[in-house]
Amino acid sequence: MIPTGLAVGLSSLLLCSGTASALVWNTFDGPGSPACHNVSRVHNATSVEDMQSVVKSAIQSKSLVRAAGKGHMWYDTQCSDDSTIIIRTANVAGIYDFSLPEGAPHGSVLVDAGVTFFQLAEYLHDRGASVGYTLTNWNISFGGSVAMGAHRSSIREDSMVAAGVLAMDIIDGKGEIRKVKRNESDDDWLAASTSLGLLGIIARIKLKIYPDSKVYAKQNTFDEKEILEGDIYGMIAPYATANLWWWPYKRKFHQRYYDWPVYGWNYDVLIGGLYPDQKAQWDYGLRAYTLELAFPVTMANAVLKRARGLFDEELKRGIIMTSTYRSGINIKFGRHYFDFLGQQTYNTSDGVDWSKGTIMSKKHLDPNYLARFKAVRQKFDPNGIYRNVIGEILEMY
Ligand SMILES: Cc1cc2nc3c(=O)[nH]c(=O)nc-3n(C[C@H](O)[C@H](O)[C@H](O)COP(=O)(O)OP(=O)(O)OC[C@H]3O[C@@H](n4cnc5c(N)ncnc54)[C@H](O)[C@@H]3O)c2cc1C
Repeated sequence: MIPTGLAVGLSSLLLCSGTASALVWNTFDGPGSPACHNVSRVHNATSVEDMQSVVKSAIQSKSLVRAAGKGHMWYDTQCSDDSTIIIRTANVAGIYDFSLPEGAPHGSVLVDAGVTFFQLAEYLHDRGASVGYTLTNWNISFGGSVAMGAHRSSIREDSMVAAGVLAMDIIDGKGEIRKVKRNESDDDWLAASTSLGLLGIIARIKLKIYPDSKVYAKQNTFDEKEILEGDIYGMIAPYATANLWWWPYKRKFHQRYYDWPVYGWNYDVLIGGLYPDQKAQWDYGLRAYTLELAFPVTMANAVLKRARGLFDEELKRGIIMTSTYRSGINIKFGRHYFDFLGQQTYNTSDGVDWSKGTIMSKKHLDPNYLARFKAVRQKFDPNGIYRNVIGEILEMY
């Protein structure tokens, strides 16, 4: 069920000579796409208690700590430059306390940090349940997804993974468990909802679940100008989940959307995947950089036209902008969702209208939200043992 191409690659590259040596921890892209450069050791955690004890020993040795899920992270951003212990969550993957009473509109389930969407989707489907539209694709962990503000593409439905989180247990900077419950008037919750792993290791997550459902998937192809001049919001907002792919060389877009009724179980259709005889691009050794932009949907036509103009300028210099199915320009949409560091937050001091949704994604951060996040960060992790380069750029230390 889990494509082997998504397995995390760890390379034990020797970085320095002498007494100390450091490992490189790679993203799932493998060697050449490092997540962390200065890793003293990788601990394959076996339980939440085991993770707590590693954190406590890291405090003694004054080492930094970062959790690691499935490595689907952007490269070079997981750690800081200082020596770091990686705690791998893949084997902390319990699913328990399932509750969805007959006829109830929703229920809940608890997952450990390392549980993947594939694992949970199968577990729930076997019990007549699903996580609804917070199901993202790919073989990524719940801990990693919630930490980084992962999402599906939707304007109509709540699609942030965190939107389905009812509570979580976080291992703080002292190695103790802190319980955080969904509560939009609590800064602890608003920080934990998208924490970038800076508050600590998300150890357990209580998720909202629903009775299982079926959805259909549909795909349309459009000439580029129909999108650039079209009602982009209107093409996305009616559907439970929808996105656009751009083929700049062919000057085409395709629109894909999913909704009711009905032809495949929610989890099969929404996870998507490859036909049986196909491989993912990384199995062919294809590598590329990722550029992500976030802007309000109200600016969609203007931004895409500007991008077309830039592609055309490149063409004049003989550089052709193209894309493939798995490496192409994937245009995603995010329903507004309030927290401090999330990509889909709103009421920001930049004054722009994020309320109709966001085209994903880089951060558009508000100084007030950053300050409130920092206060929670200092409470959870006073010594900054979960530091990473993003936290440093955001001046959290
Ligand atoms: C090319 C590309 C496309 C992507 N497309 C999408 C997309 O379509 N939708 C989407 O939602 N996301 C997307 N992502 C982002 C991806 O969902 C996140 O990076 C997610 O965090 C990966 O989860 P993982 O389990 O692989 O975590 P990892 O890559 O292992 O870790 C990611 C980060 O989270 C931290 N972390 C991991 N586990 C925990 C934990 N238990 N507690 C605290 N911190 C933790 C790590 O230290 C690291 O900083 C994309 C990423 C890339 C590179």
